[in-house]
Amino acid sequence: MKRLFLFLGLFLISFLGAGQKNILIFLVDDLGWTDNSLRKPAIFRTPNMEKLARKGVEFTQAYANQNCTPTRVSLLTGMNALNHKVTSWTFQKDENPNEGGNPRFAVPEWNMNGISPSAGVAHSIHATTIAQVLSAQGYATIQAGKAHFGAYNTPAADPKNLGFQVNIGGTAAGQPASYYGKQAFGNDPQKPNIRAVPHLQRFHGKDIFLTEAITQETMRVMDSVLTKPKPFFLLFSNYAVHTPIQGDPRFVDAYYKQGMDSTEAKYASLVEGMDKALGDWMQYLDKKDLTKNTVIVFLSDNGGLTDVGRGVPGRNTYNTPLRSGKTSGYEGGLRIPLIVSGLSQRDSRSQQPILVEDLFPSILAWTKTTKPKLVQSVDGKSIIPFLDAKKSDASRMLFWHHPHMRTNGSRDIQPFSAVRQGDWKLIFFHQDQHFELYNTKTDLSEQTNLYVKESAKAEFLAKVLGQKLRETKSHMLIDRQTNQEILYPF
Ligand code: CA
Repeated sequence: MKRLFLFLGLFLISFLGAGQKNILIFLVDDLGWTDNSLRKPAIFRTPNMEKLARKGVEFTQAYANQNCTPTRVSLLTGMNALNHKVTSWTFQKDENPNEGGNPRFAVPEWNMNGISPSAGVAHSIHATTIAQVLSAQGYATIQAGKAHFGAYNTPAADPKNLGFQVNIGGTAAGQPASYYGKQAFGNDPQKPNIRAVPHLQRFHGKDIFLTEAITQETMRVMDSVLTKPKPFFLLFSNYAVHTPIQGDPRFVDAYYKQGMDSTEAKYASLVEGMDKALGDWMQYLDKKDLTKNTVIVFLSDNGGLTDVGRGVPGRNTYNTPLRSGKTSGYEGGLRIPLIVSGLSQRDSRSQQPILVEDLFPSILAWTKTTKPKLVQSVDGKSIIPFLDAKKSDASRMLFWHHPHMRTNGSRDIQPFSAVRQGDWKLIFFHQDQHFELYNTKTDLSEQTNLYVKESAKAEFLAKVLGQKLRETKSHMLIDRQTNQEILYPF
């Protein structure tokens, strides 16, 4: 009798689980749109990204927010940055990192503590995460690698407070103290470092790179997760290719031999090490016979680093043909590589502009989650219709908002708000309140400002942006001379 119940129970579980896809989000930190051999084969080697693109659909006009935490919060909540108000990267509780000191402008109120799983936590967005939703649906939920969902000493510093049943190596840190196992990934009892990567003690002292250690550790955990008849949601979030730009010893020599600048050789090796992890996961799913039932989404969390930290010779040109890079409102800061595989489409490219929050409703659909209990309302729109490359929606409005003084000295990196509809993109620069209008199709590099020439289009988008900023009660940069926020455009 007991065996019969066990049998029935297992049958029921596998029946309920049928049709529920496993989800693997392969998130890369700071990987630029062109930092791969799909776009720049003369510099980068990412054969597994190429392979994934052949097996699925590449979204060539996919966007994130301009830097880390805003994108991670949009991914977990389905909310646009205008609504979640985590408009920059988070660090210490209730602190606005490195943004004081400008004599003319100050940064307004924002959710500097990141996500909160409960109401009433100051400077945070209370929302239900995709991990909480899927956990309630019976999924195994695993976070591996960089988390950076909120500030230190807040609930969001621990992914386990946000619906992840397992956390491997994720904290409030935005970068690793070290990529090297020989340096224990920054864990030094003599010299505590808040960016030290936890949970990987078995690799301390060994000649292993962080990307590889997290891959091996996560696969070990997944082996035991998969013994239970549950679908899984795995956020495999690479610390690579964020600074510190440290060479991956498995790959770096080949780039040195090509005569590359030494920082750039190290960067390319970080990229190739990340790509190797992607290949390892594709093989792992094959070996476990899970490829068919697993959706893989590959994406980056913002545009590529372009200025500080990169090799000097090409400064500010690393994302060409895109203008500028991480933290900027130009395409170099926002446009990301994004590939979806595991569905029926093969070797296809979609031109539909999509935003990172669009993954939230897409994941709900792939996992057959119909009525999730959510605190927030979701801004994202499912990308599923656009997996068919013939489908597009030119009416969709995409919005960005970054009222922050992370200027880096480059004039292309300024506080901004922006909107894109169809091929047109309007950027509003807070400091001097000027607009720039670009046609992203005919002028991908954003060189010709059409604000005057296409005044009707410009005025329309400026009004749309102004209305959205008002509607969402968004905060604008503060002018210290008047101690007021600058006015909304239109
Ligand atoms: Ca990032």
